[in-house]
Parts: sequence; C-alpha cells; structure tokens
Amino acid sequence: MSQLNKDMIIRLLSEENNEQNLWQQADRVRQENVGDEVHLRGLIEFSNVCRNNCLYCGIRKDNKSVCRYRMSEEELVSTAEKASQMGFKTIVMQSGEDMYYNKDRLCRIIEKIKKFDVAITLSIGERNYDEYKAFREAGADRYLMRIETTDKELYHKLDPNMSWQHRYECLLMIKELGYELGSGIMVGLPEQSIESIADDLLFLKEIEVDMAGIGPFIPHPQTPLAKEAGGTLELSLRTMAVMRLLMPDINIPATTAMESLHPEGRIKALQSGANVVMPNVNNSEYMKLYELYPHKPTQGFSQSDIAKKIESIGRCIGKGYGSHHRKV
Ligand code: SAH
Repeated sequence: MSQLNKDMIIRLLSEENNEQNLWQQADRVRQENVGDEVHLRGLIEFSNVCRNNCLYCGIRKDNKSVCRYRMSEEELVSTAEKASQMGFKTIVMQSGEDMYYNKDRLCRIIEKIKKFDVAITLSIGERNYDEYKAFREAGADRYLMRIETTDKELYHKLDPNMSWQHRYECLLMIKELGYELGSGIMVGLPEQSIESIADDLLFLKEIEVDMAGIGPFIPHPQTPLAKEAGGTLELSLRTMAVMRLLMPDINIPATTAMESLHPEGRIKALQSGANVVMPNVNNSEYMKLYELYPHKPTQGFSQSDIAKKIESIGRCIGKGYGSHHRKV
C-alpha cells in the first residue's frame, strides 16, 4: 500500500463517496503498525511574538490587535514540570519565530526541562545550523516544522519574505542532526489543488518524516485571508488517511485544527489513521492569545477527560515516550 503513486493518491483524495472506506483502511493500517496506544504530548505555546508575516496566521507580525506575550524562563520550565507531573512523557515547545529566545537561553531551558525525564520537541521555526546543533546537544529530541505546502509559488505568496528552499534546507539540517523530524501541511489553502496535496504527501514520504501533522487551513478574521473558504474536515481526514497508507509506521497527530471544525474532530482523526494527541497545557489566557486561527479550543481538557474519550473508542494512552520506530 505504501507503493501508492500520485494518480492513486489523487483519486483517493478526490473520492468523497468512498471516504468511509479510506478512513477504515487507514485505521486498520494504523492498528497493524503502531498499535492501539495514543501518545499524548503536552503542548506549551510559550511566545506569540513572531518576526514573520504569513498571510494565513493569526499571530503574524502585522496583526497589531494581538496582545503579545512571552513566558519567562522560570514560567516555561515550571509549566513543563507541571505537565510532566500530569504524566506527559513529551513536551512540545512551540512559539512564533521569536529571537528573544536565543541559543543560550533556549539551551538553558532545554537542559532544565530534560531533568523531568521527558522527550522534548521544538517547534520554533527556522534557525541556523549552529542553533539547531546546540539545541540538540542540550537535549532536544524532536523538531516539528511544517513545510506548509510544496507548491513553491503558493508558498512564496503566502509566506512573504520567506524562502521555500531555505525551509526545506532547515528540515534537512534537522534530520542530519539526528532529531526525529516532524513536518506537515495545511489543507484547503487558497489556490491549493488536490494534485498539489498529492505532491505534498509524496514529499513528506521522500524526506522520511517521523511525524506528519496535517490540518485544515482555517481563515483568521484579522489576516489578509479572512474571506477565504478554508479547508474542510473531510478533505483533511482523507489527506491524513492517505499519509497513513503511505507511511504506515510514523506518528500522526489528530490535529487541534480538526477539533476547531468539529467537536469530535480529533476523535474522528484517531479513527482514521492518527495515533497522537497534543493537548495544550497552558492556562486559558495564554491559549486565547496564541490564536493561529479562530475557534481554537481554549479549554485545556483534563487528563481524565482525554483518557475517557480515548478508552471509549477502544484505545489506550501510550506509556512510553512515543518515539517513531521504523519498521523497515
Ligand atoms: N513558528 C513555528 C510554529 C508555527 S505555528 C514554525 O514556523 O514552525 C504552527 C502551525 O500552525 C503552522 O506551521 C501552520 O501550519 C499552522 N497554522 C497557522 N495558521 C493557521 C491557520 N490559519 N489555520 C490552520 N493552521 C494554521
């Protein structure tokens, strides 16, 4: 099944009438390859300051109505400690591209958080080789940076002053340094075709990601793309399911953006190929301020709620770090 070619992928992505079948097939492949464990990652959005101006993103630099925040070193470390005490075995540190967190500051934070016996994922955008190397040596295990789209023309329209090639090179550096590599895309970007999504999936396979995050684009009212249609849950789920067929043993999160489109979005995703959930562990004030897109859930759901939901669909919560284990 991982031999799917581009035409077959396009067909699967386009077939609205056959999607139940596709989701079931992805669910089976997930079960056979990564089992029934759902790995939880505690997500800390530690700064909404960003130097970039991505047209789709609510915390883009030119959105002057965002009240900006930055967690202090102490606050970030203590939030991570709290998350580890809640049982999270992975901490995901995400932010805008905020250079206040320079190499030394981030290395200090990573070293402190590592003492809580957790895996650390960084999701802080583009940095230079020297920084990626230092973060890795300080103890960061994984790095998450979506390529967003492999349509270079579209990328350059949506991410002004950024370079697709540079982002791609960052992903290669991250891989070379021995991080587990997470990447991914948004589904339903303006002018994005099904064919282009098929190229995205083949790209993620080609660079051998360890994790692939796929979520719908949701227009934010304070951005230039406010009036766009945005992606649907159904196409996002189909895309995620095909990703599972293409790369049977990787980690695939049920993304938060899916939950924003449907109250059971993440559960549907877990039943269509996903095996990871990244609950937000910030307080609700910070959650509101980190508004990448509207209707982002701002209630951190409690551990027992998540456990109940996961168990109600016959799954269990992963006990280990939930690293990617390549099967072949
Ligand atoms: N600065 C980091 C983190 C970016 S925010 C980095 O560059 O990697 C995390 C992800 O949110 C982005 O990669 C993008 O795919 C997604 N995102 C941003 N705006 C969005 C929107 N309006 N709808 C859906 N997803 C969005």
